[in-house]
Formats: sequence, structure tokens, C-alpha cells
Amino acid sequence: MTTDNDVIVIGAGFAGLTAARELTAKGHSVRILEARDRIAGRTWLDNRMGRNLELGGTWVHWVQPHVWAEMSRYGIGVVPGPEFQTAYWWADGQRHQGPAEKILEILDEPNKLLLGQARELIPLPYQPLSNPAVKGVDHESVSTRIDQLGLDEETRQLLRTFWSLNFNGRIEEAAFTQALRWCSAASGDWMLMFEACATYKIQGGTSALAEAMLTDSKAEVELNCVVKRIDHHEGGVTVTTDDGTTYDAKAVIVTLPLNALNSIEFSPALSESKQAAASRGQAGLGAKLWIKVKGKWDRFVAFGGEDWPLNFVQSEYFDEDSTTLVAFGPDGTAVSVEDTAAVQAILERLVPGIEVLEIAGHSWVEDEYAKSTWPMHYTGYLSENLEEMQRPEGRIFLAGADYANGWGGFIDGAIESGLTASRTVHDVLTF
Ligand SMILES: Cc1cc2nc3c(=O)[nH]c(=O)nc-3n(C[C@H](O)[C@H](O)[C@H](O)COP(=O)(O)OP(=O)(O)OC[C@H]3O[C@@H](n4cnc5c(N)ncnc54)[C@H](O)[C@@H]3O)c2cc1C
Repeated sequence: MTTDNDVIVIGAGFAGLTAARELTAKGHSVRILEARDRIAGRTWLDNRMGRNLELGGTWVHWVQPHVWAEMSRYGIGVVPGPEFQTAYWWADGQRHQGPAEKILEILDEPNKLLLGQARELIPLPYQPLSNPAVKGVDHESVSTRIDQLGLDEETRQLLRTFWSLNFNGRIEEAAFTQALRWCSAASGDWMLMFEACATYKIQGGTSALAEAMLTDSKAEVELNCVVKRIDHHEGGVTVTTDDGTTYDAKAVIVTLPLNALNSIEFSPALSESKQAAASRGQAGLGAKLWIKVKGKWDRFVAFGGEDWPLNFVQSEYFDEDSTTLVAFGPDGTAVSVEDTAAVQAILERLVPGIEVLEIAGHSWVEDEYAKSTWPMHYTGYLSENLEEMQRPEGRIFLAGADYANGWGGFIDGAIESGLTASRTVHDVLTF
């Protein structure tokens, strides 16, 4: 069976939902083909351990203009996270404890040193290559840059853990420019950048925003529909799914994450540069876990060792006899989302007396439609790959947080990129 549409959008994450809504608003017929049995992609609000928990993307901020505009459009507010009282951190082979501000104090000067060039090298975060000098540092890693700062060992270790948290991965090949991009998007203020990353949640959850966008769209959505192949020619595309169904369209917007892009066969093939970038992938290969612990704990944050399977924890929800924590680690294969005992062993090194009751999470790195968490690029991606990923090939257009200019690792980046792709496709179809 073959179905005709003006545009096929592959993927119903925020990039796909944005692009589809915009194109239908301009009068194009759009069909979204989504592999999962749900929309929203790498965001997923699900009921676990007795409450709705965000298993993927979560936090937003008013310095992220695209997601904020969408929330204003649909009348969706934010829910602030807890203000922290206590901090635990691991450095020099031992646990340290202090007031929460102490962590920010330790990290302040070194982050200012590390990120001091952010505004100079990336003066316009939505045109990340506007200053050609940024290419000169794009092959340097965050790891090397931190080690060059000449910090005392405790501070060095904490800063490395902090950036491993931000990358949700290992930092040896993590692009220094990616750190600069984040900081520049937060107007050069690393504390604002950190606040933007983990403080304000979407009221009603990410699914509320995704549903609002879909409801506002005239696109048809097909779930459980895995795209396997795209044949393209000057005037259009034929998209084939795993059950052999084909869809003809004038254009296709592909929103697969970079790490999953090569799972589709393109004919003719995508440029070698695009294929190589997808084969290398990106550094966000870590874990996110929700952990219910016994008793009502205070509001704490905790930084473990850089290489610990979970190296960051914060308390998030407080009930009478339990507390729910959210945790991150740099290697999604190092901690099972079902191994409560392993999580207990990691946590008790950091937070004395803690007793894990239950855990919940989703293994995004083992998820074939994601193969990664949030997009955090390797060295060289900005200068060698980003523009090429954004360059359409015939009637094929890539969109997604992995290919965005501004807040690239975020929901905001997905929406930005979806808007750009829809505008470009509309221009191609109407001129
Ligand atoms: C654990 C985690 C925590 C995060 N935390 C935050 C945060 O706090 N704040 C924030 O702003 N961002 C966060 N992010 C990042 C944010 O969720 C993503 O950047 C954003 O949701 C990506 O949207 P997208 O549309 O570009 O890609 P995706 O959401 O990945 O959408 C792509 C879609 O394509 C589908 N697909 C893949 N292959 C196929 C195929 N072959 N055929 C059909 N469909 C296919 C996928 O199922 C998916 O639905 C986090 C992500 C993760 C995983």
C-alpha cells in the first residue's frame, strides 16, 4: 500500500511535533511515522513507584526561548524544584559534607576560568560558528581544558564530575565548545546555565506540552511504525516501514537522534560526512534513575566520583515516610535500571544511612530508537559536522536537538530545529 502526503515526518519527539504542526498550519498535509507506541521521544512521563516521573528530558527555563514560547502558547507553567540545604561530594578518596552553597562556591571560580571565553568565542549562541575563532578550540576536550586549569585535586575532581554530569557521559572526548555553547546560551553565566538544567519542570509534565502540540496540529500520526528505508529523488521521497508499507511524499523530515540515524537506509546514501558523524555519535551515553529511599530526607545534592555508575543525586520529592531522588551517571551500561542493590552500594558511599527501597528508569542507550540520552557533542562536531547535518540533501531534511544551534542538548533545541526544518521545507515546496 502506498499513501501520499506532502511531507512525512519521521519521529514524534519535540522536533517532529513542532515541524508537523507548523507545516499543517501552512496548509501542507503531513503524516508522522513514529516507531514507539507513544509520542514525545526522549521525554517520557510515566507512572512509576506511585507517581508520575520524567524518565527522560525534564527541566526547562525561561532562558530557553523556544520551549518557553510553546509553554506560553498553551498556557503551561513550571513547577520549581526544591532549594537545597545539604551537599555531599566525593573527592580525594573521601566523602565531604557541607551546606549546599558550599558546592557552588567550590565550583564557581573554576567554572568561570573554564568558561571565561564563552561569550567571546560564541557571541551569538544561535549562530555558534559566527566567530571563526571557535574552530580553533573545537578539537579540545573538556577533560584536557579542566586539567590545564591548575586546580587543587579536590576542586579538579569535583569540576570533572560536574562536567561529566552535564555531558551525561565521559569527558575525555567531550567537546570544550559544547560547554562553551551551553554557557553562551545562558549569557555567559554558568550558574544560570546550571539552574536552566535542573530546576524548573513543566507543569503536567513533558507529555502535557507534547500532547498540546499534537492536538494543535492537523498531522496524522502512526505509532508503532518503524521506518527502515528512504528512497529519494529530485522531486520527492518514498519512505518504507518495517512491514513493507510505503509512503510517497514531496519531502521528508527525519528527526532520528544522531546515534540512531544510520538505522535507516538511504538511497542514494546520505553524504559520507553525515554517515561518519552518525557512526561516531555523541557523548551523552549515560544513565538517569529515580530512586525511592526510606524516610523523609532533607533537600540535598550529592556529587560522586567522576567514574561512578551514578555520580550525581538530588532529592526531588518528599513524602511522610520516603523521599524520591533523581540520579545520573556517565555510562548507561554500568548501572542497571533494575539493580536496587547496586544502587544502594553506590549511594551509601556518598550519603550515610541511606536505604534504597525501589528504583525506576529507562535505559536510553539500549533503546534502539535513541541509543543515547541528551545530545552532547564530541570534539570536532561543531566545526566539521553541524552545518553538514543541517544541510538538506534533495528532499531530505534532518531536524532534532542533535542538529540544533542554540540549546542543542535540550527540548528547546528540538523545537528550534523543528521550526527551522518546517520553514525550509515550506520554502522548498512553495517556490
Ligand atoms: C535521560 C534524559 C534526560 C534529559 N534531560 C533533559 C532536560 O532536563 N531538559 C531538556 O530540555 N532536555 C533534556 N533531555 C534532552 C531532550 O529530551 C531531547 O533533547 C529532546 O527531547 C529531543 O527531541 P527530538 O525530537 O530531537 O528527538 P527524540 O525525542 O529522540 O525524537 C525522535 C523520535 O524518532 C523516533 N524514531 C527513531 N527511530 C525511528 C524510526 N526508525 N522510525 C520511526 N521513528 C523513529 C523515536 O522513537 C523518537 O520518538 C534529556 C534526555 C534524556 C534522554
